[in-house]
Amino acid sequence: MIKVRLKQGRERTLANRHPWFFSGAIDRVEGNVVPGDIALITDAQGEARAWGYINPRSQIAIRVLSWDAEERIDGAFLKRRLDASIARRQGLPGLQETDACRLVNAESDGLPGLIVDCYGEWLVIQSLTAGMDRLKNDIAGILMETLHPRGVYERSDVDVRPREGLEGVRGLLCGEMPPDAVRVQEHGRAFDVDVHRGHKTGFYLDQRDSRNRVSAYCQDGVVLNAFAYTGGFGVYAGTAGARRIVNLDSSAEALEAAQRHMSLNGVPPEQCEYVSADAFRMLRVFRDQARRFDVVVLDPPKFAFSRAQLNAATRGYKDINLQAMHLLRPGGILATFSCSGAVDERLFQQVVFGAAVDAGKDVLILERLGQAADHPVALFFPEAAYLKGLICRVE
Ligand code: SAH
Repeated sequence: MIKVRLKQGRERTLANRHPWFFSGAIDRVEGNVVPGDIALITDAQGEARAWGYINPRSQIAIRVLSWDAEERIDGAFLKRRLDASIARRQGLPGLQETDACRLVNAESDGLPGLIVDCYGEWLVIQSLTAGMDRLKNDIAGILMETLHPRGVYERSDVDVRPREGLEGVRGLLCGEMPPDAVRVQEHGRAFDVDVHRGHKTGFYLDQRDSRNRVSAYCQDGVVLNAFAYTGGFGVYAGTAGARRIVNLDSSAEALEAAQRHMSLNGVPPEQCEYVSADAFRMLRVFRDQARRFDVVVLDPPKFAFSRAQLNAATRGYKDINLQAMHLLRPGGILATFSCSGAVDERLFQQVVFGAAVDAGKDVLILERLGQAADHPVALFFPEAAYLKGLICRVE
């Protein structure tokens, strides 16, 4: 058995129950470690405190699986964790209206490094760590037995895996291979999710509630859906009575999917426009053309992957928000988001404030938005909070 002794003075960290231990917190390791091994974690006095998995190749050397040193990490443990995670989602507001949701949100659900998303009859899992790689086949088997999906597909082709010394992998873990398009329903809208190649596990499930909230401002309006991806916000706007929807994205392929989603949901093609271009450039072009919108949605990709990129990221956010403010009619709505974990709510608000100052606009925050409830944030693990959004009225 691998035993990890923490350094003196880690009592506070243990008491705070943060599920990560960095290599600097470790005093010594007993046993020959293979990345991903289960390890017993003891305090400096040698008293057993937790179970976790260890990866000496990762800066995050240990991720805690259980704070109960008596608990055995076996199949029954995994089943308890998965059952609890699934049960926690029952009756959550918003989930009655959809058959696509997150079932396991990694550390926040007590299963570090594991994402499980459900798309209709299919499950997609993502393993981010060496420790989770060792458990994922058991987990897929348990999910198969408890939820009876048609198949469990793996999408572990994520940017964080190299930090664990791992390559990206994708493929079938259990059951049948999912089709290229998995039809799902969300708040009365239909989407064909590409679980093989789509972003994340196929779809931005985290924005479900925000898409719905923003749609309430779109009736009769001209809407610019910037960073449209496969048209999520655009489809909601169109079906909520928007007069015209301009979908803007740098990916022509994503816009083709957006177009299919618009027609799938009965939005007349003459009300839709698709612009494949860089948003930073195109927002300026729209301004030069004196185009005006009633609603602008800004849902860009992650700009900051670490604290070191914070300055460049905030400049980027400020720029698009400033440009968007210039495109709005007086009293128009700006729905603006950031999914960079390093940019917290306060900083994001400051950035939008800076944009308003430069744009010379009065801006009111009408609503604060965040990730949907199936993406919960454990209080012990604030890193799980990454998505924030503001619905603003721009005077
Ligand atoms: N709002 C979407 C998710 C957006 S994901 C939804 O609800 O589903 C971010 C999108 O931004 C991706 O589709 C990506 O292609 C696009 N993107 C990234 N950089 C861009 C840029 N500079 N200009 C325009 N689009 C960009």
